Amino acid sequence: MTRLALAFDLGGTELRGALVESGGRVVTQVSAPTMAIAGSDAVIGQIIALAGDLLAQRPQADVVGIGIGAPGPLDPKAGIVIAPPTLAGWHDVPLIDILGKHFGLPVRLENDANAAALGEWRFGAGKDTGSLVFVTVSTGIGGGVVADGHLYHGRRGLAAEIGHMTITGEGDRCFCGAVGCFEAVASGTALGRRATALTAPGDGSLLRRLSANGAVSARHVVEAARAGDISALELIEAEAKWLGIGFTNLLHLYSPDLIVMGGGLANGFDLLAPTIRATVEQRAMPAYRDVPIVPAQLGDRAGLVGAASLILWEGEPGAPLAMAQDKDSKDGPTERAAGREASHR
Ligand SMILES: [Zn+2]
Repeated sequence: MTRLALAFDLGGTELRGALVESGGRVVTQVSAPTMAIAGSDAVIGQIIALAGDLLAQRPQADVVGIGIGAPGPLDPKAGIVIAPPTLAGWHDVPLIDILGKHFGLPVRLENDANAAALGEWRFGAGKDTGSLVFVTVSTGIGGGVVADGHLYHGRRGLAAEIGHMTITGEGDRCFCGAVGCFEAVASGTALGRRATALTAPGDGSLLRRLSANGAVSARHVVEAARAGDISALELIEAEAKWLGIGFTNLLHLYSPDLIVMGGGLANGFDLLAPTIRATVEQRAMPAYRDVPIVPAQLGDRAGLVGAASLILWEGEPGAPLAMAQDKDSKDGPTERAAGREASHR
């Protein structure tokens, strides 16, 4: 029987759960709006309820453990969610202990961006690489680093908080309190803010027409740029320059085989890519300039399948070795191909 993991992606707005095979295929999936202001007991109750739903759908499933991606800061080794800004009332919650006792199964915990990095590395855009940096650009900027075949954790598992690396001395204050964070100038939120400042309600611009004269979002900017709107194209160019500067830092710091860009703004990756690339060419030292920068492949499934792999691929490095050792490899390439196809949806 195929080994499965229960996987959860705990977000500030949505809690998603799935049963996942070791090849990355999602067998069945459920979700619920996170009771983010109700405290940790309520949300843990939701996790237990969703697990019950999933197991009821597959009563014969051979579930070998539970993998969870949750918002940082958290300590993956101790299994403790420290104090995520998006979840009220969570302070040093021993999530692994609580769920382990409830289910009698091994539980593994990882920062949500790290879980997504693992997903893209093992099943998505980063398959067959030894080192990659995954960058998610949406409301904020997060990331995960795979270095030499392992997720890079650092002290207390807090490494690769790349949204808060300082890349300028100017601009709006970041929610972390500092000025000039990568996230503060290059997130989707920052792009929307620049677009809103550039236009005015009722000015007839395409950006304001798309936003129904409300605040302009990054999604509106991408949509207007696709329609050839000059202001939107200029905003995209400025955004791509900031991303290029941040990515150049990541190339110099981690020397990955690949940078994978995910998050909501990856929907505009094709528009952003030429200026990101030009900025890297201009700023990176020659030895780093040929590193591919590619869009993520798994969308919002990356975190779920990455969390599942914490259990199903425990102790295994990247794809090639794991494929050779994986118990399910006897199922052959057909199952793996099906898994890839499913996870690309
Ligand atoms: Zn910051």
